[in-house]
Amino acid sequence: MIEKMIPINLDYNATAPLRSVVQGEVRHAMDHIKGNPSSIHCFGRDARSMLEAARSRIAHVLSVESQQIVFTSGATESNTMILSGFKGPILVSAIEHSSLLDVRADVTLAPVDENGLVHIGFIEKWLEDHPGQSLVSVMTANNETGVIQPVAKISELCKRTGALFHSDCVQAVGRIPLNMNLFDCVSLSAHKLGGLSGVGCVIVKDVFPLSALIKGGGQERSHRSGTENLIGIIAFAAAIEEAMSTNETNEWQRIETLRLTMESQLVSACPTVRIMGKTVQRLPNTTCVTMPGMKAETQVMQFDLEGIALSAGSACSSGKVKKSRVLAAMGVSDALAETAIRISLSPQTTKYDIDSFVSIWKKICQSIKHNNVEANAA
Ligand code: PMP
Repeated sequence: MIEKMIPINLDYNATAPLRSVVQGEVRHAMDHIKGNPSSIHCFGRDARSMLEAARSRIAHVLSVESQQIVFTSGATESNTMILSGFKGPILVSAIEHSSLLDVRADVTLAPVDENGLVHIGFIEKWLEDHPGQSLVSVMTANNETGVIQPVAKISELCKRTGALFHSDCVQAVGRIPLNMNLFDCVSLSAHKLGGLSGVGCVIVKDVFPLSALIKGGGQERSHRSGTENLIGIIAFAAAIEEAMSTNETNEWQRIETLRLTMESQLVSACPTVRIMGKTVQRLPNTTCVTMPGMKAETQVMQFDLEGIALSAGSACSSGKVKKSRVLAAMGVSDALAETAIRISLSPQTTKYDIDSFVSIWKKICQSIKHNNVEANAA
């Protein structure tokens, strides 16, 4: 009998597998939710109290006020809501997720350097030129490269000129320490934390002029209408609690060591590879690496055949690989960017997983070298 291969998941940044604690809470919620949180009868009141309990659990782990949380259908909606309703000048970093970059055309793009770090000098100058209530949106950590942005410095600059600061913290939350006081507004997504997809939130301070994207029933203090996704919200609370527990924080330290070892093995196997943002602070779990000579799409398929799931740039809905705007903003040529893959580890990733990945990587590298030699000889 042929043994079935157990696939290795190195695509944690695309989505985190549903946590078992979440599955338990979802089952319990399915058995107990009997009403709409907006109904005033006993079933509605029970649903309302489950909703508010979940909200205060999330607020507690993030050290924010419950009433600062507005639930949405995910970070795409959160980002769209924040940007589309803002009246005033907006500065957005050039490496944001498309759910920020594609919302409106009248924003200024803040460039990044070759390591993917946003130009602080550019932000400072833009803020001087736009005093008062402008909006700066810079993600805390990038989904493709893992590069961590200088958000404390940006927050300080914004405070100095009275600008508002929004940060997409989707990839950072649970993986690195976050100080919510730095931000006037934050976007989060539950499925990146091991919750259900289709739910997220914005965390918004009173000063932030949030403008509703979805209007109607007036839920979420009229910031976001529509019956709340109660099961998803309860799952979100369970996921974020576990993600921010000390146990998991310790696991990320182990993962960072594993990732650094993996990176040095890749470089010594093939010195021409480039690890994006290698010399700057990155998420403990994310590596974006080029493999000159083979398109990312082909690499992803080869790894998939060998039982390893990873991604080419950021996952996109059609399954097709799009040109990476992040790598383009970092000045990486199209030809090189086309060969970049993203490896993103989870707290469950083992040394065995990484050893398997590295050995397949070496095999693929060897096959490219071999093909090149044959092509040159021909
Ligand atoms: N921002 C970042 C940085 C992301 O990685 C993603 C998901 N790829 C999103 C926003 C969108 O999140 P959601 O899937 O919840 O809409």
